[in-house]
Amino acid sequence: MKLSKVITLLFSLIVYQLVGQPPKFSPPIGEEDYYMFPIRPNQPNTLAGNMGELRTSHFHAGLDIRTGGRKGLPVYAAADGYISRISISEGGYGKALYISHPNGEITVYAHLEKFTEDITKYTQNQQYAEKSLHVKLFPNKNDLIFKKGDIIAYSGNSGSSGGPHLHFEIRDKNHVILNPLKYNFEEIKDSTSPIVKKLAILPFTIDSRVNGIFQRKEIEIEQKSKVRYNAPDTIEVFGKIGFELLTYDKLDGVNFKCGISEIDFYIGNDLVFNQKIDSLKFSTQRNILVHYNYERYIETGNKFHKMYIDNGNMLDIYNTNEHKGKFIFDESCIYNALVKISDVYGNESIFEFVLKCTSPTFNTTQQIDTQKISQLNNVLVIQNNNKDSTIQILSPHNNHSISPKYVNNNNFTYLWKMNNSSIQSIDLCDSLIVMNPQEQVPPNTVFDFYDDKIKTHFRKNSLFDTIYYSTDNYYNADSTMEIFSIGNPKLYPLRNSIDLTILSNKNFDVNKTHAYKISENKYSFSGGVWKEHQFHFSTREFGEYTLLTDSIAPSITPITLSKSNLKFKIKDDLSGIKNFNVLVNEKWILMDYDYKTNQIWSVDFNSSNNEQGIIKVIVTDNADNETIYTSIIK
Ligand SMILES: [Zn+2]
Repeated sequence: MKLSKVITLLFSLIVYQLVGQPPKFSPPIGEEDYYMFPIRPNQPNTLAGNMGELRTSHFHAGLDIRTGGRKGLPVYAAADGYISRISISEGGYGKALYISHPNGEITVYAHLEKFTEDITKYTQNQQYAEKSLHVKLFPNKNDLIFKKGDIIAYSGNSGSSGGPHLHFEIRDKNHVILNPLKYNFEEIKDSTSPIVKKLAILPFTIDSRVNGIFQRKEIEIEQKSKVRYNAPDTIEVFGKIGFELLTYDKLDGVNFKCGISEIDFYIGNDLVFNQKIDSLKFSTQRNILVHYNYERYIETGNKFHKMYIDNGNMLDIYNTNEHKGKFIFDESCIYNALVKISDVYGNESIFEFVLKCTSPTFNTTQQIDTQKISQLNNVLVIQNNNKDSTIQILSPHNNHSISPKYVNNNNFTYLWKMNNSSIQSIDLCDSLIVMNPQEQVPPNTVFDFYDDKIKTHFRKNSLFDTIYYSTDNYYNADSTMEIFSIGNPKLYPLRNSIDLTILSNKNFDVNKTHAYKISENKYSFSGGVWKEHQFHFSTREFGEYTLLTDSIAPSITPITLSKSNLKFKIKDDLSGIKNFNVLVNEKWILMDYDYKTNQIWSVDFNSSNNEQGIIKVIVTDNADNETIYTSIIK
C-alpha cells in the first residue's frame, strides 16, 4: 500500500471517530447537500406519506409533504436545473413540474396550485395553441432554467389529491423512483421504529398445515417494548408454508401509516427472505397487487407484505434463495424465527416467533372454519357436519370420492385440488352443492372464454397467475338492468386488461350506451363501443358491469360573470364530463377545472374593451351529450 493511501485511510478513520458513525444510508459522495427541501426549507416538516408506501395499485413514488391544510406555499427548485416536463391533468398529479438536474436526476413537484410567471406564460402559449387546459409539455434545455432555491410554483391540491400538500419525487435519469429521504433532509426527523401488527401463516399445498389444519392463520402480535414484538404462542407448521406481515412505519410527531423500507426474515440463523424498497420502476408498479395479499385487502383493507415471492411477481425488490420464501417443513423440529423491519432512517423493530414442525393428525383440537366452502391457494376447503363418510366431487367426465382430512367436534374437513378437474357439484350425502362451473385460465397465454352472452379475451399479460374464471348475467330485482358478472373480484387482481364482448338483445341507443362498473350502487363509466350488434369494452378489474344509456346532457350553472372573471359549475349525472370549452365572442378562453368541486374558472380573462361580450360555454359528457350555455357580459 502506498504511503499516501495509508494516510488517507488514517485520516478517514480519524474523521469517523470525530463525527461518530457514518450515516447508515449515505447518498453518493459529494451529493449530500445536492438537494434542498422543496417547501418550507430549514424548518421542521412532517409527511403524510413516504416513498414505498403501499397504495392500492402502486407503491407511493415520493414524499407527501404536509402544508398545514394551506395552499399557495412557495415551492422551490430543489437544485439547479431546467424544467423538462410540465403536465396538467384532471386527475393524477394535477398541475406538476419536472426539473432535470446536471447530475442526471429528475425532481417532480405535484398537485400544485399554480406555476410562477415564466412557466405559466410558457404553458399558456401551448394551452391556447392546443385549445386545452390539459397539456403535457417537454420544454427544451434552454427554455426554463432555474437555480437551486428559486421559486417555481405554489403548492396546492390539484389532481387526485385528498387535501393540500406537496408531492415530491426524486428519480434517476431513467425515471427509476428513488427514495428522497436518503438525501439527508434535516427538515424531516424520524426516530420512531416501524410498528408490527399481525403475522399471517398460510399453506401452499394440499398436504400443508398451519396449527394442524389447512388455513391461513392471522396472529395478533404482542408488543414487548418500543422495538420488540413477539407472537404469543408457538406456531405449528407442516408442508409448504409462507409468511405474511402487517407492518407500517410511523414518523415522529404524526400518526400516518407510512411505508417501511426493509424486511429481513430469519429462520434459525439463516436469512431466508429480504425485501428492500429502495428504488422502483414504473413498469413494475402494478405488481404491488401480488406483493401484498390482495384477497385480504379486499376483505379487510389490511395490506400484508408477503414474505415470499408470489407467482407472477416481477418486482426486483427481493433477495432470497431458491425457495423464494416458501418453506417446506417436513420433520419434527423447532425454529426460532426473527423478522427485522427497518425504515429508511435505519430505525428497526424486531419481531420474534417460534415455529414447531408437527405432522398432521386426523383429530384436531383447532377451531375449524364453519364456512361450507372456501378456497385458498387453489385448494377447495369443504366442511361437512356429523358425517364421517366420503363425499362425492362430481365432474363432467368422472366423479371422485374423497375422505375427510381432519375433524374437530364432528366437523369434518375435505380438501380438493382445484386443478384436478372442473367441478359441477359436490354430493355431501344429505345435500348437493351445485357449483358455478369455472374454467382454469393460465397466465402468459392468450385465452378465450365463452358463455352464451359474454366472450372474454385474456391477453398474454392479463394475468399474474392461474385463475378459476366464470362469467354470469342476470337481471336486477325490478328487471330493469342486466348485470354482467365478470370473474371473481374478491380473489383475483388483473395485471393487464381483458377484452369483453357482450351480446345484448335489448334495443339500446348505441351512441349513448356504454359499460359501467357497479360498486356499492354507484356506476363508473368504463367506456366501450358497439360493433355489429355486439358491445366491446376492456377492463383491468373483475366485478359487476352493466350497460347504461346516458341521454341527459351536462348541467352548466353560472357562478360569476364579469369582465375579469368567469366561473361556472359543470356537472354530469352518469357518464361524466369529457370536455368543456368557453368562448367569448368566438375566442377560446383558458379555464381551470377542479373535478372535485365541479367548477371551471377563467385564468387570465380580462375583457378590457367596452364592447359587450357574447359568452358561450359548451360542455360534453362521455356519451357525447352536449349542453351550450350562452349569455352576455356587459
Ligand atoms: Zn403523493
